[in-house]
Amino acid sequence: MPGTRQALPAMKAVPHVSRATEDEGVPVSQRIRERLLAARQRFHANDNIADYIEPGELEALLDEVQQRMTAVLESLVIDTESDHNTQDTARRVAKMYLHEVFKGRYAKIPTVTEFPNVERLNELMIVGPVTVRSACSHHFCPILGKLWIGVMPNEHSNLIGLSKYARLAEWIMSRPQIQEEAVTQVADLLQEKMQPDGLAIVMEADHFCMQWRGVKDMDSKMINSVMRGSFLKDSTLRREFLSLLNNRK
Ligand SMILES: [Zn+2]
Repeated sequence: MPGTRQALPAMKAVPHVSRATEDEGVPVSQRIRERLLAARQRFHANDNIADYIEPGELEALLDEVQQRMTAVLESLVIDTESDHNTQDTARRVAKMYLHEVFKGRYAKIPTVTEFPNVERLNELMIVGPVTVRSACSHHFCPILGKLWIGVMPNEHSNLIGLSKYARLAEWIMSRPQIQEEAVTQVADLLQEKMQPDGLAIVMEADHFCMQWRGVKDMDSKMINSVMRGSFLKDSTLRREFLSLLNNRK
């Protein structure tokens, strides 16, 4: 990705990067980025990069993000030295990004035990609503909503525990996202883990970039869905899923 390489010289020009986050003058983010580029691995906002972060580097990254956030506050002309409210804001925001709201970029996939479908279940299964907390890639504004998952297993499908759906969805959602891409990522992951005959995902969410800024439309919700396999082919199954979901909303 040639576009991302161009960002490197600009980052080096930012002052105040302490020794703790650097290795021979190279910011830790740059070391991680170089590894990703060498592996030709995509690192968009909603990609997970945990495999390219070495032990101890996440702590160093936290220091680096804190320093960059301090520079942002300075550029916003906020007197963080005398304003007690914003004294620790840079650190708090850095922690919030790396350890909470964007954790799904930096943490490895949660361990999920899959077990064989010994009962040979082949009935429609619906999980939800799963709470969705995410942020939009465009503005880093919150996206809060709900997700429903419909699974049509076959005798060869793997099954996963009920609570695991939420943990996997959370791992995908706690990244800067675009709703359409987020539901596709959830569908791809569940497809890979379970190998069902059919899979359906519906997500309904409030986008705070519509409410807090922009058009300030307080009531707009975005709903989208992904249908795979038997949900795509079988309109009766699709209708059954959607009507069960509408009754429970
Ligand atoms: Zn937005």
